[in-house]
Amino acid sequence: MEELDEDNMNEIKDKHEIGTPEDHLSEIMEEAEKYHPGYGASVMTGDVLIHALEIKTTSFCTLRCKDCTHLIPYTKAPAHMPAEDLMDDIKKIIRVAKVAGLIFMGGEVMIYPQLAELMEAYSKEGFYDRVGFVRVTTNGTVVPSDEFCAAFRKIKNGYVVISDYGILSSNRDEAAKKLESFGIKVNVIPEDLQWRSLGDWHHRDYSKEEAEELYRKCHGKLYLHLYRDHLYHCYRAPVMNEDGLIPHSDGDYLDIGSMSVEDLSRRLPEFLTGLSCTKSCFYCDGFHEQSPFVERAAQL
Ligand code: SF4
Repeated sequence: MEELDEDNMNEIKDKHEIGTPEDHLSEIMEEAEKYHPGYGASVMTGDVLIHALEIKTTSFCTLRCKDCTHLIPYTKAPAHMPAEDLMDDIKKIIRVAKVAGLIFMGGEVMIYPQLAELMEAYSKEGFYDRVGFVRVTTNGTVVPSDEFCAAFRKIKNGYVVISDYGILSSNRDEAAKKLESFGIKVNVIPEDLQWRSLGDWHHRDYSKEEAEELYRKCHGKLYLHLYRDHLYHCYRAPVMNEDGLIPHSDGDYLDIGSMSVEDLSRRLPEFLTGLSCTKSCFYCDGFHEQSPFVERAAQL
C-alpha cells in the first residue's frame, strides 16, 4: 500500500495524533454525551458497556478505496444484509449491553435497500436509554432517500456523518442540505483528515507477545463490528475472516445469530475484556500512533 513520504508525514502528524486507545474511549463517551446528555451518568457499575458497535448493513460500495480500514473493496461476495436479521442481532446485543455509540455503515450505507425499513424498525424499539448516539456514516456520493430521512429523524440521539472525499463525494452538499431540511444533525468530516494504513492481510511472523502488544495499542479493537450475524472484536477482522482472505478463525467472533440472549449475556463480558489478541491480529499492522499515513480515499 502506498505511503506518504517523511516530510508530508511530519507536516500532518501534529494535527492527526490519535493518542492511546484509552484516550479514544473518552472521546467516544464525550460524543455520547453530546448527542445524549446524561448518558455517561446513566452507565452504572456492573453494566456491560460496548463503547462502539458498528453494524455493516451492506458490503456494496460506490467507491473503491484501496486503504479502506474495513477492506470493503476486497470483499469477494458483496451482499446486502437482511434488515430482519440485523434487528434481531441488535436487539439481543442491546438487551445485554449498553452501547455508547451505535454506528450504521456499509460499504456505502445509502445504497442499502432496506435502510429506511431498518431505521423505522430501530426507532420503534425505544432503545434511547441504552444507547448514547446513533450514527449513520456515508461517503457523500448518494443523496439520502426521503424514506430514510423520514425514519431517521425519529431517532433523537441520531446524526449523520458525511466523510468528505473531495470530488469523489459528489453529492456531499446536496446530501447535507436534504438531511438538514428534515431536521437531522449532520457532521462533515473534513477533506484533509488523513488516513493511516493497517497494511495488507499477509501473515506476519509475530511472536505471541508481539501480537499482544499490537492488540494492546490498536484502536481497531474499540469498534466491535457486526457482519453476517457474527460479532467481531474489530472492524478489520470481519472481511478478512468471512471473505476468505485469511484462514477462518471462529475464535475471533461471537456467533450472535445462533445465540440466545442468555448465552450472549454469559459470553459477551469475557469477549469484551478477556482477549489479549486474536488470530486476525497476526495478519495486520494495527491502527495506532505509529501507523503510517496514506493518501485519503485513493481509489483502486
Ligand atoms: S491489530 Fe487486531 S484488533 Fe487491531 S485492527 Fe488488526 S486485527 Fe483488529
